[in-house]
Amino acid sequence: MSSCPFCQSNLEEKKTICSSCNAKKGYLKINNFIFGKSLLVFFGLIVPFVIIFFAISAQNLFGVNVSVIMTLPILFAIWHLILGDRWMK
Ligand SMILES: [Zn+2]
Repeated sequence: MSSCPFCQSNLEEKKTICSSCNAKKGYLKINNFIFGKSLLVFFGLIVPFVIIFFAISAQNLFGVNVSVIMTLPILFAIWHLILGDRWMK
């Protein structure tokens, strides 16, 4: 049993949302939207990798630039995955 850092109510280990105050467990928060692991992996790893794949296929300078820029969200996502999940509100 752990407790919510915001309202101190008891939470079951597997719970990702606090039923008392609606705090959520996640890896990243952008504009009040909290990313869980699957969303972070999708938008931070899969989407940029697909964009890089198509950018490299274009075989031009623009494609190279896009590929370089798209490594940033990948590094950002990996960093947040390493930091781990925490309770957010
Ligand atoms: Zn709570």
